[in-house]
Amino acid sequence: MSFSSFGFHTDLLAVIHSLGYTQPTPIQQASIPEILAGHDVLAGAQTGTGKTAAFALPLIQRQMERNVDNGTKCNNEGNATGKKVRVLVLTPTRELAHQVHQSFVNYSQKSDVTSVVAYGGASINVQISSLNAGCDVLIATPGRLLDIVSRELLDLSTIETLVLDEADRMLDMGFITDIRRILKQLPENRQTLFFSATFNDDVFALSKTILKQPKRIEVAPRNAAATSLEQLFYEVDKQRKAALVAYMIGSKNWQQILIFTRTKQAADELAKELKKDGISTAAVHGDKSQGARERGLDDFKTGRVRALVATDVAARGLDIQQLQYVINLELPYNAEDYIHRIGRTGRAGQTGLAVSLVSAKEKYLLKDIEKITKEQFSTQWMPGFEPNLLNQNEGTSSKRKQSKKALRAKALGQGNKNKSKASKGSRR
Ligand code: AMP
Repeated sequence: MSFSSFGFHTDLLAVIHSLGYTQPTPIQQASIPEILAGHDVLAGAQTGTGKTAAFALPLIQRQMERNVDNGTKCNNEGNATGKKVRVLVLTPTRELAHQVHQSFVNYSQKSDVTSVVAYGGASINVQISSLNAGCDVLIATPGRLLDIVSRELLDLSTIETLVLDEADRMLDMGFITDIRRILKQLPENRQTLFFSATFNDDVFALSKTILKQPKRIEVAPRNAAATSLEQLFYEVDKQRKAALVAYMIGSKNWQQILIFTRTKQAADELAKELKKDGISTAAVHGDKSQGARERGLDDFKTGRVRALVATDVAARGLDIQQLQYVINLELPYNAEDYIHRIGRTGRAGQTGLAVSLVSAKEKYLLKDIEKITKEQFSTQWMPGFEPNLLNQNEGTSSKRKQSKKALRAKALGQGNKNKSKASKGSRR
């Protein structure tokens, strides 16, 4: 199948060609005809499968047709004056909004289709004046959109298509109330495209309330990881993880590595350790300013830094072509985050490697991942970084010893004496 089979405008085909897209990815093959036909879509697709183009290309094509029909004129800046927003794309994070906007700008470069992005942490006035200039597509995070709407500066009644991108993440991030408030302002009679990497009961419940007879599209098995991806799991002691990361990057000469941590503190600590080992590294997380986050991503994309350490939230929306290596310094508490994390590699047909470091205390999290991916993973040891089995058992066996001791002390009537000794010891 080729892109020309969709009946796209020759200018749109030229852009697609110039980007080096030779054929549509599976999600594009399945979604594009349905979206062009005006159907609602419920799509299970991870980042990296080409899902942005799967909705952006047909929506741009439809706007091109509409603008020709309406004879829309552009002003000097390329903005078509008097345009009303027809397409609304909601994303959970600023980074994803920025990324999706870049894709729209890129794909519509040879057309008069215009798009505006609005997210928190950037000047609302600039966003409002861009909206006032008129645009076809608005990409926004829910909070900033409501902020603009509450000032009565935007009319959502002209929206014809709503795209919910990474719907699962929006729910994880607690946006359900915001989404419902936005939905109330949209016309009942609209097209809705619902994209989610993972599905659980909450995601299905939301999709049921907003989609009308949707076409279901699933390119990878439900909740399964992308296939062009090798997943390795190393058992290693927690305190040796940073050294193992540095060793892998250095000894294998990996060049562009995205590393996930669970916390901002762990991200900062690891970045510091890697820098000490001579590996140029940036950290992105919620405590960094929007500017610092964008700089970090930019430095990573352009190769100025070799490793990027990110928390789950900060990493959403990150689009790096041909990213080969993802390392999970820690397994996520939420198994679905694992799928999102490793979706950063092996994208659009490229192969990738996802390495997860598993400490003794994290083994139950691996079980959760196996459950959700329906795969069995075997763990291995990296020579030189073998876990200290004595340490791993120490916790339980010393507890057992202590309780025997405590029982003996109790029998001898010395319980309190031992307790105060123990607490003195722990303060040291
Ligand atoms: P996404 O899943 O939207 O994050 O896209 C992942 C990456 O795949 C992006 O860098 C796109 O530029 C790229 N991409 C999208 N569609 C295609 C295609 N048909 N052929 C090659 N690369 C593509």
